[in-house]
Amino acid sequence: MEKIRIAIDGPSGSGKSTLAKNLARELSLVYVDTGALYRSVGLFVMRAGADPKSAAQVTALLDQIDLKLVYTDEGQRVILCGEDVSDLIRTNEISMYASSVSAIPAVRKFLLAIQKKMAADGNVVMDGRDIGTVIMPDADVKLFLESNSKARARRRYEELVAKGHTYTEEEVYADIVKRDENDSNREVAPAIPAEDAIFLDNSELTREETVEAAMNIIAEKLKRKR
Ligand code: C5P
Repeated sequence: MEKIRIAIDGPSGSGKSTLAKNLARELSLVYVDTGALYRSVGLFVMRAGADPKSAAQVTALLDQIDLKLVYTDEGQRVILCGEDVSDLIRTNEISMYASSVSAIPAVRKFLLAIQKKMAADGNVVMDGRDIGTVIMPDADVKLFLESNSKARARRRYEELVAKGHTYTEEEVYADIVKRDENDSNREVAPAIPAEDAIFLDNSELTREETVEAAMNIIAEKLKRKR
């Protein structure tokens, strides 16, 4: 059977990973979470005590970074220099580090090969900020998932609280707004939709409704392709 490639882009907290995981399950695809790569670079930079906004400092560290993606029954694990950091990278601090380092061209270039390889393998649903524009410009379906910043902050807050973090909803909201600004204003691969992306606004949708809406878009797109 023909391999399917689905790209999901959109701002922080729009529910990309939840949607991608569900689509992966429904359509038997591998879910590739590209944000985990930027987060892992962010973690490395933090541990090294470097300034995540300094292109020179961050670029100098890149050749010490060894990143691997491993797929298990529980989904993707990211291995940074031999250590499974998949859970460690889910904090607000690392979100900010990831956002800063992701604006550095050398970092994006460094992470290109690993993402392109996953894309080439096919039968994937990848989420990120530049999947439809840079990583898989020829994806079968490109979704751009949106929701208003309040709805996104609420979701991210609930996710963090469920993981035992003690941030306030206001803190999470402030971070979301700041990250949106970083991610959409940068010069390299800003988080903008591909020309042929299909918008899905899920501010008022539940998880299940979002999955259903996406499944309908995908079915329609694939039918037209065949
Ligand atoms: O998606 P997630 O919140 O895990 O991504 C963390 C950060 O990594 C984002 O704020 C964004 O700056 C960056 N990122 C990116 N390109 C991607 C995925 C993530 O720039 N494809």
